[in-house]
Parts: sequence; C-alpha cells; structure tokens
Amino acid sequence: AENHNNPGESSTQSKKPRPNIILGKDGKPCRACTAFKDWTRQERKKDSSESTTTSSTSLSSSTTSIPFLGAAKKLPKDCPADSETLGRHTWTFLHTMAAYYSDTPTTTQQTMMLSFLRTFSYVYPCWYCAEHLRDEMLRKPPRVENRNVLSRWMCEMHNGVNQRLGKKIFDCSKVDERWRDGPKD
Ligand code: FAD
Repeated sequence: AENHNNPGESSTQSKKPRPNIILGKDGKPCRACTAFKDWTRQERKKDSSESTTTSSTSLSSSTTSIPFLGAAKKLPKDCPADSETLGRHTWTFLHTMAAYYSDTPTTTQQTMMLSFLRTFSYVYPCWYCAEHLRDEMLRKPPRVENRNVLSRWMCEMHNGVNQRLGKKIFDCSKVDERWRDGPKD
C-alpha cells in the first residue's frame, strides 16, 4: 500500500484503503489538507458498513459528509481549493518567484526572501504540509544568496515532497527551462 506519510496514513496500520479526510486544527474537515478524490471516495464509501478509525487527524466515513460533491469526478469550478489544486498553484508561485529573484540580491532583498519563506511555512493552509516544510527548512535552511541557489533550493524542497508522495523526482537542472525560459527550440 502507498504511504504518502500524511496524517491518517501509516504503513504500520491496517492494509485497507484508509479514509484520508484530514481535520483542521478546528476539528472540522480541512479541504486544503485533503485531495478532492479522497472526499469523493469517502462519499462513495459512505453507505458501506465499513468504518475505520485512524488517527485523531482523520475522520471515519461515518462522520464525514460533503453532500453537494456527491460522486463528482472533478473538483467543480469555483469550489474552494483541495490540497492538490492548492499545492499545484502554490508551487507555480514559489518556483516562479525563485525564477525571477535577483542574480545579485541586496542584503535587504535576501532578508525579505528569508522572512517570506519562514512566514510562508507557518501560514500555508495545509497544516501538516506546513509542518513538514518547517522540519525540512530546519534540516536544510533556505538559500537566498542569488536566483540560482534559491531556484535549486526550491526544487529540492519540492522533490522532498514528491518523494514522500511517491511522485517522480524532478531534474533540478531543468528548473529554468520549466519556470523561466520555456523549452529550448
Ligand atoms: P505538483 O507537485 O504540484 O507540481 C507542479 C508542477 O511542478 C509539475 O507538473 C512539474 O512540472 C513541476 N515540478 C515538479 N517537481 C518539481 C521540482 N522538484 N522542482 C521544480 N518543478 C517541479 N501534498 C501532500 O499530500 N502532502 C504534503 O505533505 C504536501 N506538502 C506540500 C508542501 C508544499 C510547500 C506545497 C506547496 C505543496 C504540498 N503538497 C503536499 C501538495 C503536493 O506537493 C502537490 O502540489 C499536489 O499533490 C499536486 O501535485 P501535482 O502532481 O499536480 O504536481
């Protein structure tokens, strides 16, 4: 079984597919922490008698219901972001920000970037993503000396998440092509 290492998922627990609707710190389901497909998978399972309790940060199917989504296959337009939409758009912003950072930033620019990244790691709405990020940033502090090293650092942070989620590792020598210059002719 896949272990994305998110709350409610643990390879040491039962092998059954696991409800993965994540609760916010207010105790309510957190859309920005949960993939839309997991909301809808949960809806489809709602009527089944199976009710697996996992950790305190995820809900069992008997207590979770997002009725208007029903068995929808795609996140309806104008819905609040799920964890994947939020993640994708946020990475777009973060990599683009790094791609347009100065080659020779002033001390003030470097301080502002550091301050932004630290603040970001506290305010990102997917709380467990933010927690992972803060841990990673302790292990591997942001590099803000210039555009190149910041882009590389961001790429490595993203690859850390990719790895945890079982996604493909991105070739960091291609960040400029992906986020600034576009494909070579
Ligand atoms: P994304 O991973 O969103 O990537 C978007 C695009 O970026 C890709 O199509 C690719 O072209 C490019 N790309 C991919 N990797 C790199 C790289 N290393 N460097 C440069 N470009 C790259 N989700 C969770 O389930 N658990 C988490 O703990 C979690 N933590 C997150 C932490 C942060 C800070 C952010 C911003 C998001 C986090 N997410 C987390 C969301 C997750 O990373 C993905 O954004 C989401 O699953 C959607 O994935 P995707 O396959 O559409 O592509």
